[in-house]
Amino acid sequence: MRTSPPRRKATFQSETEPEDQEYMRLAIEWSKKGMENGNLGPIGAVVVRDGQVLGQGHNRCQADLDITAHGEMVAIRDGIKNTGCLEGLQGATLYTTAQPCPMCYTACHWAGIKRIVYSLSCQDTYAIGAEFGFNDAALYEDLQRPEQHRAIPQQQLLREEALPVLLHWSREASLVAGRRCP
Ligand SMILES: [Zn+2]
Repeated sequence: MRTSPPRRKATFQSETEPEDQEYMRLAIEWSKKGMENGNLGPIGAVVVRDGQVLGQGHNRCQADLDITAHGEMVAIRDGIKNTGCLEGLQGATLYTTAQPCPMCYTACHWAGIKRIVYSLSCQDTYAIGAEFGFNDAALYEDLQRPEQHRAIPQQQLLREEALPVLLHWSREASLVAGRRCP
């Protein structure tokens, strides 16, 4: 079950820190591992807080037949598993070899990641991987449109039947909130 999305004001940090290069190089090493043994997982990512690597990995879509297994998602899943709780990555920095797609950006939001450092831009990945569907900039643009004008139409149905489940959850939410990090 989801936790509440973090409510915080982002603090933009225009300059990178010296240790950022160290962690980005670790992410690049993961991207290289992702290409070993024909795995075709060229994006690596690591999640770091207070000098500790909490999660790491590379794109595993092909290896796991999982369309959501982008490098960032793999690193976040690894970090949450390692910390043992959904809030375990609060305040951490994500280092990724490619600028996150909207799915991975949203995962960062839910995980409480405070900063994202990337190597290759959306333009870089589009220039090299457009024929394979890499066009994250278009996805970000799509999300700016009203929902009825997006690439994938959205239609609402059976709200009254689904609503009781969410209301049930809201009554149980305090129990979920009580499951804090060990
Ligand atoms: Zn992604």
